Amino acid sequence: MSDDALTALGKRARDLDSDHASTDRRGAFVLPEGVIYLDGNSLGAMSVAARDAATDAVTRQWGQQLIRAWNDSAWWTAPERVGDRIGELVGAPSGTVVVGDSTTVSLFKALHAAARMRPDRTVVLTDPDSFPTDVHVTRGVCDQLGLSLELVPPGDAVARLEGSNDVALASYSHVDYRTGQLWDLAAITDAAHATGALACWDLCHSAGVVEVGLTAGGADFAVGCGYKYLSGGPGAPAFLFVAPQHLRDFTNPILGWNGHATPFAMTPDHVPADGITRARVGTPPVLGIAALEGALTAYDGLDVVDVRRRSLSLTGFFIECLDALGVDLPVVTPRDEARGSQVSLRHPDAYAVVQALIARGVIGDFRETDIVRLGFAPLYLSHEDALAAAVHLRDVVVGREFEQERFRQRATVT
Ligand SMILES: *Cc1c(COP(=O)(O)O)cnc(C)c1O
Repeated sequence: MSDDALTALGKRARDLDSDHASTDRRGAFVLPEGVIYLDGNSLGAMSVAARDAATDAVTRQWGQQLIRAWNDSAWWTAPERVGDRIGELVGAPSGTVVVGDSTTVSLFKALHAAARMRPDRTVVLTDPDSFPTDVHVTRGVCDQLGLSLELVPPGDAVARLEGSNDVALASYSHVDYRTGQLWDLAAITDAAHATGALACWDLCHSAGVVEVGLTAGGADFAVGCGYKYLSGGPGAPAFLFVAPQHLRDFTNPILGWNGHATPFAMTPDHVPADGITRARVGTPPVLGIAALEGALTAYDGLDVVDVRRRSLSLTGFFIECLDALGVDLPVVTPRDEARGSQVSLRHPDAYAVVQALIARGVIGDFRETDIVRLGFAPLYLSHEDALAAAVHLRDVVVGREFEQERFRQRATVT
C-alpha cells in the first residue's frame, strides 16, 4: 500500500472520529499506555467511575458504615436499582431486570422458570454453536424437567418453530460470541409466540452495544453479562430480565431468602416477593455490583442508538482498512449490519496471530478452532485505533511475524 493511501485512511479515521465525537468516552476509562484494547467483549476495560465506586464501597461503606451500609448505602436494593439502569440500555421497563448471579446461574433460573410455564410442551431449542455454558445449562434444565433438548441453529429456528406444537422454549444468543453474527430477536421471538412457545435471549455480546429492544421485540426472558461491554469488572454480576406479564408466574428454581416477600421475618415458609425481586436468590455480591453501578455511568447522557452507530462505524471501518491494506483473511463476521461489535477473522494459526498481536500491544483473543476475535467496545475505541490495529495485523500476518516459535505456547486462558 502506498504512503498516500495510508495517509488517506488516516484522514478518514480522524474524520469519522470527529463525526462520532459525541459518543467518545475514552476519557472515562483507564487504559495502559501503548495498548489498543480489542477484548472489551471478554473483559471490559476499567473506568475511573467503576474504580472509584469499588474503592468507596470498600473503604467508606464497608470500612466505616459496616453493617449500617445495607440501609445507608442502599446495598439491599442494589440488585433492582442496577437492574433498572441496565434495563434502560436493553429496552426493558423499570422493575423487570435484576443483577446478582453469574450469567450461567441467571440463565438456569430463566430457562427453568420458563419451561415450567409450558408444562404441556416437551422440547427446548438452543444453538449447538452457542457459548458452551448456554448449551450445558439448557441440557441440564431439560434433564431435570424431563424435556428434550433440540440443537437447532438460530438461522433454522423460525422454520423449526413454524407449525409446531411441541416447543416450550427457544433459547438463543442475540449475538454469536464467536462469529459476531447478530440474530433477529423479534423474528425468532414472534415465531416462538406464534406456536405458543416462549423465547429467552442471551445478551452477553449485545448489551451496551446493540439496541436490544427487549420490550419492542417481545422477549419473554433475557440474561446478560456485566463484565463484557458493560465493563463491570472481573466476575461482575450478570442480569436477568423477566417480561412484566410473566413476573407473577415466575417460579424461581432456587428459592432463597432474598427472593422472599418478607426476608427479615425469617419465616420457614416461602412466599415469593412481588415483581423481579422474586428472581433474587441469596445475599448479593455487593462489591461487584458497586463496581458495575459505577461502570454504567459511562452511559450517562448517551443514547444506545448512537453507541450502536459508533460501533457499526468502528467495525465497518476496521474491515475497510483490512481490505485496503491487503489483509485477506476470511472475515466471518457479517459485513452488513447483522453484526455485534466485533470482527472475527479466520486464520489457520489464529492462536499465534493473536499472541503476536498482543506482543505489539493489540489485545484481542483466540477462539477455537481458528478464530482471531477482535472486539470493538465503542465507548473507548476510536477509528484511529481501528486503523492502527489493522496495520499491526497486516504486519503480523503479511509479514509472517506469527510464525515465531514464542507465539505458539498456549496459556490456560485463551
Ligand atoms: C461470556 C458468556 C457467558 C459467561 O457466563 P459466566 O456465567 O459469566 O461464566 C455465558 N454465555 C455467553 C453467550 C457468553 O458470551
